[in-house]
Amino acid sequence: MKFPKIMATALSLALFGASALAADRYDDRFASYPTYSGSDLELAIDGPYTHFKLWSPAASQARVNIYENGHTGLPLMSIPMSSIPAQGTWVATVPGEQVNGKFYTFQIEQDGKWLDETPGVWPKAVGVNGKRAAIIDLSTTNPAGWESDRGPEVKNFTDVILYEMHHRDMSMHPSSGIVNKGKFLALTEPGTLSPEGLATGIDHLKELGITHVHILPSYDYNSVDEANLPANVYNWGYDPQNYNVPEGGYSTNPADPAVRIREMKQMIKALHDAGIGVVMDVVYNHTAENDGSNFELTAPGYYHRHWDDGRYSDASGCGNETASDRQQMSDFIVNSVKYWADEYHIDGFRFDLMAIHDTETMNRVARELKELRPDIFVYGEGWTAGDSPLPVERRALKENVSKMTDIAVFSDDLRDAVKGHYSNASDRGFATGKPGAEETVKIGIVAATAHPQVDYSKGNNSKFAYAASPEMIVNYVSCHDDLTLTDKLRKSMPEATDSARMRAAKLAQTIVFTSQGTPFMFAGEEIFRDKKGVHNSYNSPDSINAIDWSLKSANADQFAYYQGLIALRKAHPAFRLTSAEDIARHLVFDKIDSAKQPNLISYSLVNHAGGDEWKEIKVVFNGSPEAQSVKIPSGKWMIVARDGAISPTGALGTLKGGKVEVPGTSALILAR
Ligand code: CA
Repeated sequence: MKFPKIMATALSLALFGASALAADRYDDRFASYPTYSGSDLELAIDGPYTHFKLWSPAASQARVNIYENGHTGLPLMSIPMSSIPAQGTWVATVPGEQVNGKFYTFQIEQDGKWLDETPGVWPKAVGVNGKRAAIIDLSTTNPAGWESDRGPEVKNFTDVILYEMHHRDMSMHPSSGIVNKGKFLALTEPGTLSPEGLATGIDHLKELGITHVHILPSYDYNSVDEANLPANVYNWGYDPQNYNVPEGGYSTNPADPAVRIREMKQMIKALHDAGIGVVMDVVYNHTAENDGSNFELTAPGYYHRHWDDGRYSDASGCGNETASDRQQMSDFIVNSVKYWADEYHIDGFRFDLMAIHDTETMNRVARELKELRPDIFVYGEGWTAGDSPLPVERRALKENVSKMTDIAVFSDDLRDAVKGHYSNASDRGFATGKPGAEETVKIGIVAATAHPQVDYSKGNNSKFAYAASPEMIVNYVSCHDDLTLTDKLRKSMPEATDSARMRAAKLAQTIVFTSQGTPFMFAGEEIFRDKKGVHNSYNSPDSINAIDWSLKSANADQFAYYQGLIALRKAHPAFRLTSAEDIARHLVFDKIDSAKQPNLISYSLVNHAGGDEWKEIKVVFNGSPEAQSVKIPSGKWMIVARDGAISPTGALGTLKGGKVEVPGTSALILAR
């Protein structure tokens, strides 16, 4: 198949105008490609033979190069591959003894030109910097007891409590007491302590009580030079290179292909042994490089989307976007997550810029994962970072979440309403005294489901009840992106003390952890960590990103409050309802005139909501700096939270109903 040069297409656009191109969209050429989704793609070991099978439908020749070393030296041999046109594949078979333990690359000729070498799109093991794929026996990478390893069972996704962390943030600071700083192994170390003698690392996670860690990208990414790890470069990892291999920078020896795989499995096993699930952040929406990506070097043009003139489209804001609406790419995403779930026992997937993908592919992801294991949690960012050729109605947008099954989206409604808009540092929100966000907070409280007392026309971000179920919503006030909660509060409350800001943080997280849907928090918020005001710290040094664990002692009251919030949520199904109908029936807002009493929300969870042991729970949020009064029905109530203190068992005392004063910037939770 011939590919017209991009320049020629651009020229024809100039000469004949856009209408001449409408019938000849650049991406139409890929519709006729045969596809192949067998699990033997690229490398399969079958007894004494090793088989290579590369999908590259438009290549005129292909070969596989064998190397002794993962990143240096000349090929030991170069094996021509034969074409299977019906599959679009190229194959070669060699005796295993010639290649096992060695490295390989593919190379194709297309349009009369040999392209650069590539490990393909399916390497499962690689050498340093992921340039060459490795032929190893994966079963040798399993830690002891791996066969019986399993993440925690999840009954409902609203039972999950997510903790988003970066490997280096958690362990790099000297105060972590962790030996394997910045490595997968950091979370395998029990008994690590801060200088003040408080638990860090995995013991800290157990103490806090979260159910799942959500690890920032941990597949092999591009930005860190694995051959020069002493340089200690930091990156979030949103620059994918090899999707099906762990990042070498997090291993103790990236030159040995088995080590990164074994160590990531050790981390997962340690977390599973602690009863904690592992969600992986996946970034199938774009590749780190354009023409130099493994996708382009194996099947030029196919895996990415383009505008009609042949330019890469860029809904990721990173230079390109992938094409999940094409069969082979859709298969790639589905098979890749299944591989991680199966080989690495991953318990959930967080899709970066999920709306670049089509809803059909996302539905396949959830459906096929469910066949492997029914409780794998899939959620994502229901937005893009730019325009896309994919029609809006096909995008896996927040607004389209009800077109999907077993997929959740982040609610930016609660996020922006509680603390102020993410892109305007000084903007305040409900919890920091700015009026006008009450109805949007209520949208978050009911997990964007239809509720008779929520007026969506007053929503700041969303104007309709987009979620058909609370299991479709992840609520949060901050994450790795943008300012940490601490930095946001410092910038938006410049005149306040940190102790006043910590009150606001407690109120903000009380809203998240008592709301319907799934709560999500960013690592270190529980000890009031900051990032020195840096909002986009993707490549900032550890001095910005690493958590200072001495804060755990300095802010012990904050940590205890988060622990209490998590324990409260885990003990009470009223906060974890599983259907929109249950929320509409059991969550009743009190009538409050926001013009007279701004920044005040009061509601009850009634009639043993969700089978709760408590008959009624009263939740009041006062985001005003002044005390405000609410009417509480008469009778005796246990005090669960008041004035910045919390007791999950309601041991803060009792009060009789009537007119009750709620101190400024605080939550009141009562139960009976
Ligand atoms: Ca890498």
